[in-house]
Amino acid sequence: MGKEKEYISRRDFLKTVAASGAAVSGLSACAGPSGKNDKTGTAGPGEMTYRTNPNTGDKVSLLGFGMMRLPFIKGRKAEDGRDIIDQETVDRMVDYAIGHGVNYFDTSPAYSQGLSEQATGLALSRYPRDRYFIATKLSNFDESTHSAEASKQMYHDSMKFLKTDYIDYYLLHSLSNMKDFRKRYVDNGMMDFLMEERAAGRIRNLGFSYHGHKEFFDYLMSVHDRYHWDFVQIQMNYLDWEYAEKIKSKNTNADYMYYELEKRNIPVVIMEPLLGGRLSRVPENIMKEFKEREPEMSVASWAFRFVGSYPGVLTALSGMTRMEHLQDNLATYSPLKPLTEDELAFLHHIGHMMMQFKTVPCNDCKYCMPCPYGIDIPAILLHYNKCVNEDNIPTSSGSPEYRKARRAYLVGYDRSVPKLRQADRCTGCGQCNPHCPQGIDIPKELHRIDAYIEKLKQETL
Ligand code: SF4
Ligand code: SF4
Repeated sequence: MGKEKEYISRRDFLKTVAASGAAVSGLSACAGPSGKNDKTGTAGPGEMTYRTNPNTGDKVSLLGFGMMRLPFIKGRKAEDGRDIIDQETVDRMVDYAIGHGVNYFDTSPAYSQGLSEQATGLALSRYPRDRYFIATKLSNFDESTHSAEASKQMYHDSMKFLKTDYIDYYLLHSLSNMKDFRKRYVDNGMMDFLMEERAAGRIRNLGFSYHGHKEFFDYLMSVHDRYHWDFVQIQMNYLDWEYAEKIKSKNTNADYMYYELEKRNIPVVIMEPLLGGRLSRVPENIMKEFKEREPEMSVASWAFRFVGSYPGVLTALSGMTRMEHLQDNLATYSPLKPLTEDELAFLHHIGHMMMQFKTVPCNDCKYCMPCPYGIDIPAILLHYNKCVNEDNIPTSSGSPEYRKARRAYLVGYDRSVPKLRQADRCTGCGQCNPHCPQGIDIPKELHRIDAYIEKLKQETL
């Protein structure tokens, strides 16, 4: 583990310790009064760790509720063909979250088939407005909404759906390159409009979420004086910390972005602390390492502790669909137990191990959906990743576990992805590619996976 230890610079470690509760320059951290979880791993009310936004004084819960994977009612569709949100479950989870100190809710016009803002508004508006912070976005997925008029409509619709007359944290959604930034947000006058809205107090904090390369991130930092970014949302977890650029060349390592933001005193909001679930569904050999080290601690909690240990982090978003996810995350941050230097080195070692597995960096965000030809893109990629992680990708019919692995792949594939939605139906039209924030060349990956499946089926490996 000696090499891993070098990974933690003294600067990092001292910052990490500072996150345990002492005030630091910029954000300050504080925990609730009792500071203990019970043995079942459920958090008690009043124990949440909060971070203070230095610009507004907002006391923000370290756990933020990402409203992007809301539950739907199974087997029911609305007249417009969209699924129907299970509002009762959403309300119940929001109640539980608020009851346990969560006060940051992140949504977007693009989430949950465009239904997230309404569902979030319905759930939150049952509470006094000063009990919670709302984050939403000027989304960029549908080109028909990119004119100034349509963009302003999107902004006003967000307020209407969220039943509010101000937005606490407003983001330019998923910036990734200069051309799109200029076209979507600058040339149409929207940046000027949003800054006016901020001056008028209807936007309390203006920032952006980021999925792009380092040069463009540097550019956005260089125009901080012009735009005054109040916060920035980045993809950060113990894999993206130092491997994001290796996973996908157009991405930026999270450590770089974090320190660039920290030195400008810009609060950092974290997305994908679990890398779309990949850091909770780890391969069996890695699971074993986690369990040997901390048998009682969930694998996901390590990832949440990692991001929470950095004091410039205002809140870490988790898209929680199930109550047990919420409870586990609450337990991790109620209060946060920052990682020790040795634990950080352990996670570095785990990250290094995970990089040995060649999974596709799909995080199940579903932005590529729906495919006009009905392909279930994330289900195909996730099944492939699952099999890689479980060592069920035979490389030759001569390998000892070939029969078992072949069966696990093929049977699991038919169970996870209906026949008509499988990779062999992809026409290669490429319509999905521009929507993928991970920059995955989707048709290329689907064709590669399909070719592999064909070999498995024909037994020609
Ligand atoms: S490339 Fe394939 S998966 Fe993507 S939209 Fe076209 S048919 Fe669907
Ligand atoms: S392929 Fe890309 S857009 Fe589609 S679910 Fe995966 S990460 Fe999201």
